[in-house]
Amino acid sequence: MALENEILESFKASDKIMLYIILLQWILVSSFGGLSFGNYLFGFINGLAISLIALLGYKLLSGTSYLRMLNGLLLMTSSIILIQQNLGRIEMHFHIFIMLSFLLVYKDIKPVIISSLYIILHHLFFTYLQLNNISMFNTDIIVFSYGCGYDIALLHAFFVIFEMSVLYKLVQLNITKSNLALNQKFEMIDLNLELKKSHKESEDYLELISKNIISSRTTLDGTITFASKAFCDVSGYSQEELLGHNHRILRHPDMDTKIYKDLWETIINKGIWEGELKNLAKDGSSYWVFGSISPIYDENKTMTGYTSIRHDVTNKKHVELISITDGLTQLFNRRHFDITFPKFINSAKRNNDLICFMMLDVDNFKLYNDYYGHQKGDQALISIASTIKDSIKRSDDYSFRLGGEEFGVLFKSETKEKAQKLAELIRKNIEELNIEHLKNDNYMCITISIGLDCNDARNINNVDDVYKNADTLLYEAKKNGRNQVATSN
Ligand code: GH3
Ligand code: MG
Ligand code: MG
Repeated sequence: MALENEILESFKASDKIMLYIILLQWILVSSFGGLSFGNYLFGFINGLAISLIALLGYKLLSGTSYLRMLNGLLLMTSSIILIQQNLGRIEMHFHIFIMLSFLLVYKDIKPVIISSLYIILHHLFFTYLQLNNISMFNTDIIVFSYGCGYDIALLHAFFVIFEMSVLYKLVQLNITKSNLALNQKFEMIDLNLELKKSHKESEDYLELISKNIISSRTTLDGTITFASKAFCDVSGYSQEELLGHNHRILRHPDMDTKIYKDLWETIINKGIWEGELKNLAKDGSSYWVFGSISPIYDENKTMTGYTSIRHDVTNKKHVELISITDGLTQLFNRRHFDITFPKFINSAKRNNDLICFMMLDVDNFKLYNDYYGHQKGDQALISIASTIKDSIKRSDDYSFRLGGEEFGVLFKSETKEKAQKLAELIRKNIEELNIEHLKNDNYMCITISIGLDCNDARNINNVDDVYKNADTLLYEAKKNGRNQVATSN
């Protein structure tokens, strides 16, 4: 569309130049044209008629091929005026001038062909009129002022064709060249538009990605060099607050250090790490992401940093968490225990870790409920659960509510003695809660009994045995007077 418009505009500009040339012929025929023979008026009137038609044509047909052909005919008619003014000798130059004008101004051969045909017909027709002494408007017809015959008319016609061909060849080179340049220009314009369009498209695309994908880039040491809008939204930080800072600021203290160790080992060794991470937002809240972190290389294939693409899985994690959490105490529930217990033991077999399992049971809790009411009982269970949780510090120690007023703690320990110490600590911490329980003989406050079973992972043949052992030990603790830890020898 842009190309067509430019061509039209260039033709309209050429039409204007051609109009000036036609007005110039009027001056020519009404001045020099009449010099020797005094026929100014003839030239003035006919030149005026041609000029008026040219003006009208320009007004109505500018830019069209009709005007270009009309202009050709008008200028050729002007050459007839020159002949009638007895200036046939210079009329040939006039043809050459007109043809050059057409070829150079319009860069178009069609009007030249039309006007050449017109001049050939004019010569033949006027030669016929001249030979038969037929006059028009009481004016003798002049075709050739010296000598007259069809041979000359035909010879002239031949010359017209010949000169037209030669000129065409000469100018064609120029036309081809300028058309080529023009086409190149248009191609550049189109290419430019295309580039602008695709640039805009990719900008829109990047904007969309930035808005919706939590992504960042860091240097090798984890300094943030790019943060997407979605990243800022989910973390609550602005771009300025993130850029130049270490990615570490998003690390949540709940996250197992082993996960980060595995992450760094993978990416330092040019691998791609994928997994779920709990992140810390600016306001202290947390969000979960599933992330993929991969190395970035420069043109020399040297690793320069990392790209991280993540998506928010907080909702999914939330649902997951609800399904494994006990509603009253917020500890892991029995369901999660049944899944975790065998997994924990099997994974520990590789290093032959010491696996420890504590079973905890509140002492005389039925009596507590009977005396203080079920609601108070629930509150006591909540306090007991949070005390258990607070007593174990390591991220790979697990505490469960196994059911009712029974709890379980699953952990690894370096020695049995250390495990016993932990069990004793939990027992003591619960006693020190000092929750009144007048029906708990001897203690007068809420206490628990613990059965603790410790085994080298490789010696465990059946996970149920561990559970049974702890249960038996718990029974022993109860039997021996409650508020104590019983351990296997
Ligand atoms: P022992 O010292 O031998 O363990 O005596 P106990 O009374 O604690 O043992 P028992 O298993 O006979 O009773 C457990 C009681 O725990 C039964 C029930 O009243 C109470 N209990 C179980 N689940 C809940 C609970 O979710 N909320 C409350 N408030 N009480 C519960
Ligand atoms: Mg019980
Ligand atoms: Mg009990």
